[in-house]
Amino acid sequence: MSKPRIVVLGAGYAGMMTTKRLTQKLSPEEAEIVLINKHNYHYQTTWLHEVAAGTINHNQARIMISDVINPNRVRLIYDSVVKVEKEDNRVVLENGEITYDYLVIALGFVTNTFGIKGMEENAFFIQDIDSCQLIRDHIEYQFVKYKNSEEKNDSDLTILVGGAGFTGIEFVGELAEKVPQLCKKYDIDRSKARIINVEAAPSILPMFEKDLVEYAKTSLEHRGVEFRLDAKIQECTEDAFIVGDDREEIKAGTIVWTGGVTGNPILAKSGFELTRGKVTVNGDLRAPEEENIFILGDCAWVMNEKEGRPYPPTAQAAMQHADTCASNIKALLRHEALQNFEFHDKGTVASLGITDGVGNVLSGTKLSGKPAAAMKKVVDNRYLFLLGGPKLFLKKGKVRPF
Ligand code: FAD
Ligand code: NAD
Repeated sequence: MSKPRIVVLGAGYAGMMTTKRLTQKLSPEEAEIVLINKHNYHYQTTWLHEVAAGTINHNQARIMISDVINPNRVRLIYDSVVKVEKEDNRVVLENGEITYDYLVIALGFVTNTFGIKGMEENAFFIQDIDSCQLIRDHIEYQFVKYKNSEEKNDSDLTILVGGAGFTGIEFVGELAEKVPQLCKKYDIDRSKARIINVEAAPSILPMFEKDLVEYAKTSLEHRGVEFRLDAKIQECTEDAFIVGDDREEIKAGTIVWTGGVTGNPILAKSGFELTRGKVTVNGDLRAPEEENIFILGDCAWVMNEKEGRPYPPTAQAAMQHADTCASNIKALLRHEALQNFEFHDKGTVASLGITDGVGNVLSGTKLSGKPAAAMKKVVDNRYLFLLGGPKLFLKKGKVRPF
């Protein structure tokens, strides 16, 4: 009799950790494990703002999948998922198809433009390694172009960032590091290059308490970031945001949208019932009415029953989903009871550049400044340890000095 086949879609935080845990929990005779991903590398989504600003090299944020997942134990397929045909237990890929006995969908997020006119066509997104390399190269191109043009247009040097949630704020924090370096490199007056963050709400980082928000805003302003709050972006043109009821035009040479995310559109193509782009999973992380399909990470709404709303989509949660999912697949294979997911909140930290940050950790301890930045690096490095042990930490870890 052939072994049951477990197919994991997506090698992000949830997919990589599920695969890793399955190899630890199951014997090779118990199941065949297949991991399918678009690229032959895994990337640290949580470092993408740094790749986009050019404060780290994109190769630091990439890890070859076969360096951490043994290809003799797990079949690795590098291909794009097109859709899941649930009725036939089959996954359709760009270059083939594969059947499964158990399926784990961990295909992550896509940027949500909420249908804002022109955003899809004209703005850059912090979405994956390639999209972030484009942002980095475009920003530098604007500096070179400015330096070499006879009729200088100062707005070429303006970088507009739409949305002041975590991604927008972490990105402008990195830009506050990078822009002075670029000004120095191309001998351009620092005051010519502007970083403008536009946010619809009256405040940045709405998830943090007032004192941390004030700290973050003041720190970024001191380093040259301008904020436009209470300013809803109505439209994005080739070189501007159109903002507010009076449709003010803010011009720029680089426009980046960080206004929100939603689940991978493969979920819709595969016929899952969606709430705001994601599947609301059962307590055991299976899709409703599906015995053999688990949905994890940014593709899933996992309900916080105590608060009656879903947990926010984070890498921290995605990795914890992976542990529960691997245990539950093992339980299904061994005809044991499944467990419900329980979130263990280790806190939240937002970086504000290399040596600054704000956060809440260990049930309510507030951090700001260097301690917060150090804590962010501890979290980043812990993940590398969990995934690939000390070898991966030494190869890819963040050991940048303060
Ligand atoms: P992902 O990590 O996005 O992985 C999805 C994988 O699926 C990718 O490898 C992708 O290539 C692959 N894939 C996608 N489509 C296909 C397809 N069609 N076929 C094959 N493969 C496909 N969270 C935190 O907890 N802490 C942080 O500090 C933090 N910082 C962040 C910073 C930024 C800039 C961003 C954007 C997010 C940050 N988050 C952070 C959120 C966190 O990154 C996400 O919640 C997390 O990445 C979700 O993990 P995932 O495994 O669901 O998806
Ligand atoms: P988000 O939804 O958290 O923030 C988007 C921001 O854009 C909001 O402040 C919103 O008011 C603003 N916005 C939306 N439409 C707008 C408009 N028309 N005009 C102006 N502003 C507008 O999205 P995100 O920052 O991409 O984060 C996505 C998820 O990733 C979050 O759940 C977050 O928890 C997670 N994340 C975590 C970290 C971290 O832990 N350090 C870092 C990045 C992302």
